[in-house]
Amino acid sequence: MRIHDLIGIGFGPSNIALAIALEEQDQRGQARDAFFIERQPAFAWHPDMMLDHAHMQISFLKDLVTPRAPSSHYTFLNYLHAKGRLQDFINLQTFFPSRHEFNDYLSWVASHFEERCSYGEEVVEVLPHGEDDDITLLRVCSRDANGNHHERLTRSLVIGVGGAPNVPPCFAGLYDDPRVFHSSHYLKELARQKSPRRIAVVGAGQSAAEIFLDLHNRPGIEVDLITRAWAFKPSDDSPFVNEIFNPEYTDYVFNNPTGQRQALMQEYKSTNYSAPDLALIEQIYNVFYQQKVTGETRHRFRRRHEVTHAESTADGVRLDITELDSGATDTANFDAVVLATGYRRDVHETLLDPLKPYLGDFAVDRHYRVFTPPHFKPAIFLQGCCEPTHGLSDTLLSILASRTQEICEVLDATLPAAQTPRVHTPAASLVGTN
Ligand SMILES: Cc1cc2nc3c(=O)[nH]c(=O)nc-3n(C[C@H](O)[C@H](O)[C@H](O)COP(=O)(O)OP(=O)(O)OC[C@H]3O[C@@H](n4cnc5c(N)ncnc54)[C@H](O)[C@@H]3O)c2cc1C
Repeated sequence: MRIHDLIGIGFGPSNIALAIALEEQDQRGQARDAFFIERQPAFAWHPDMMLDHAHMQISFLKDLVTPRAPSSHYTFLNYLHAKGRLQDFINLQTFFPSRHEFNDYLSWVASHFEERCSYGEEVVEVLPHGEDDDITLLRVCSRDANGNHHERLTRSLVIGVGGAPNVPPCFAGLYDDPRVFHSSHYLKELARQKSPRRIAVVGAGQSAAEIFLDLHNRPGIEVDLITRAWAFKPSDDSPFVNEIFNPEYTDYVFNNPTGQRQALMQEYKSTNYSAPDLALIEQIYNVFYQQKVTGETRHRFRRRHEVTHAESTADGVRLDITELDSGATDTANFDAVVLATGYRRDVHETLLDPLKPYLGDFAVDRHYRVFTPPHFKPAIFLQGCCEPTHGLSDTLLSILASRTQEICEVLDATLPAAQTPRVHTPAASLVGTN
């Protein structure tokens, strides 16, 4: 069986950025046999949250490569040039393209690496491979859409699988009820509902805000917006605070003792969690204000409320909604419930479970490499699940360009000497090709 130098699980922005960094190494004569496995049938960036009017929450300059190599072929600017829209984009005078456009940019980059990725395959587990006690390789097991199993051997692994829906405990028993769904499945699941009239949206972050406004723009739908918070607070993207997303801040977080790291995380949580854009908050406020003007209560803002019990019934999903200050509980039926309740970042623990005897608690070093004992040779890197040690930028796009370079440098020091370079079209800046 062929042995890869590297297998990447997932082909979202993190591992696409890695593919770019590996190609740069390749062009410097350090060719690596890298291969990626992606469960979606084709590249798509959070497709079920691709809402009309949704915009990036980060400057396009923090694309997959610009902060490291602004003359790369794969910059957002070169994408615009290749698509013949650079002048028009300049006229928009914005740093924040629509999510539709950024998805198109990511798809354009991904299309350059088609032969390096198998789409429509879900990795189900990673097994140790070796003789006696020495683990020299990893066996990556996956399943395709037809149920066929695949196995591949690799010397190193990079996990970039993103988050999994975080479902509050009181909804855990409603897993099979199609009327209850997480924001990550929003568009697909909403389309499956039969003329819903009353919908509950649970959460107070960017996704909850976007979904509320999306539902408001669909005639005939009434929304109960349920949040523990008293007020929607905007994300802080002021310049000094934004420096926490600079690559060097990762060193600052990592080198702090654990207690201090948690304090830093808490201090700047409002940059990313339960913090929609101010413009969305203003739109939502205006919706509720106009209700006061007309006296027609279409939507309800249930601030300082929590869902304490959820039950499937023939008449709808019945929620007990408790007012946090008074403790008073109200019961209401909904045609659908959207859980805009965030993401868990522990998917790697399931995939790597067979390796747990070697990996312990999956702790990583500064360069995202999981600590392993000396007789365990394969290098395993985690992208996007190191927030507790590497800071709030870990799940975002901001540090992809620098993180993937760091991973490549460690890979280079770890793997056997690289092969001779392949023949390549020279990387060019602002090349006008598709
Ligand atoms: C709606 C939304 C908007 C966002 N907007 C921004 C923004 O504006 N700016 C920003 O910085 N961040 C934003 N984020 C944060 C987001 O995490 C990053 O933008 C980015 O998607 C992270 O890339 P990733 O590759 O680590 O994870 P993902 O984008 O989640 O990609 C992971 C990939 O792995 C695949 N996968 C998962 N499990 C398996 C498996 N077992 N086998 C094979 N493949 C698998 C998935 O199908 C997916 O394609 C947003 C997040 C959401 C949900």
